[in-house]
Amino acid sequence: MPRRWPLLPVLLGLGVLAGCGHDEAPRQAGATTTSSTTTSTTLAPATTAAPTTTIQSLPRPPAGPPRALITATGVVVPILGREGAGWAVTTPCERRAHVAGGTLLSGATVVLDPGHGGNETGATGANGLRESDLNLAVAKLAKAGLEAQGAEVVLTRTADYRVTLGARAALAKVLRPRLFVSLHHNGGVDGRSAKPGTETYYQRASVASKRLAGLLYQEERGVFSTYRGIQWWGNVDAGAKYRLNSRGGDYYGILRQTAGVPAAISEALFLSASRPEAELLARPDVQQAEAGAVVRAVRRFLLTRDTGGGFVTPIKRTTPAGSGGGLTGCVDPPLE
Ligand SMILES: [Zn+2]
Repeated sequence: MPRRWPLLPVLLGLGVLAGCGHDEAPRQAGATTTSSTTTSTTLAPATTAAPTTTIQSLPRPPAGPPRALITATGVVVPILGREGAGWAVTTPCERRAHVAGGTLLSGATVVLDPGHGGNETGATGANGLRESDLNLAVAKLAKAGLEAQGAEVVLTRTADYRVTLGARAALAKVLRPRLFVSLHHNGGVDGRSAKPGTETYYQRASVASKRLAGLLYQEERGVFSTYRGIQWWGNVDAGAKYRLNSRGGDYYGILRQTAGVPAAISEALFLSASRPEAELLARPDVQQAEAGAVVRAVRRFLLTRDTGGGFVTPIKRTTPAGSGGGLTGCVDPPLE
């Protein structure tokens, strides 16, 4: 008996990426960085003996029909339906394609969205660190941390290629995760700040999204605050906040197009604001610490009623955030 597969909603590629600009980074004398150790919440290595401590496992999605798949080249694509012996899928550039097979996904606990990719690199640090690479590195570390705690985690982008905002949101819509986090590092900044300039954005109409943004903000700010001797940069209204468009809807396309799934954007620090901040973000231990903060925030979102913190009323901004995420010039990666 033929099964009916859910059809994707019409995908409009135009949107607004999270606000990571391409501003020239002001140069600063290189301050040395010291860091206190941060411990990420991960399960202890498996032992044959009974564990001395137990951590409550994160929930897994319910079983169901396949809704997306991971192709042989590692690209995650929504399934349109059966096609011959294989599958019809939607590519990262929102084209229809056929694949012979792959790892089938029926759902996800968490969808993590590493911002940018391909020729859309996002912000760039004075040390040459590209936001698209940094976002992916942190996403992979957070995925590993969450999976160690039992969650099913899907990335919207798994290597350096373009993915439209519509294709990212489509994965959220078909996989119905408990939450969606878009990982970014900021560009364009108001000025120097006494504290790390962490910002998170939520869907204005969603209480759950606001909570998610508040938890991400608390955990990330907490981690970055442990690094001493850094001259931070930030916006005057740094915090967990929203940004609205002229019609009163969410300004950022990724938050608009994922409506129905609690989603938040994490702008962990300002990659392009100063060389010391970029150098901090280039450190593997700092990327691991940031990923640990994301893991803890997700864990608190799923297992507690914590409301998070750092909520601010944003000042009205008219400067456009980084454009991109559309179909123009989008080149698909090899799927097989
Ligand atoms: Zn970005």
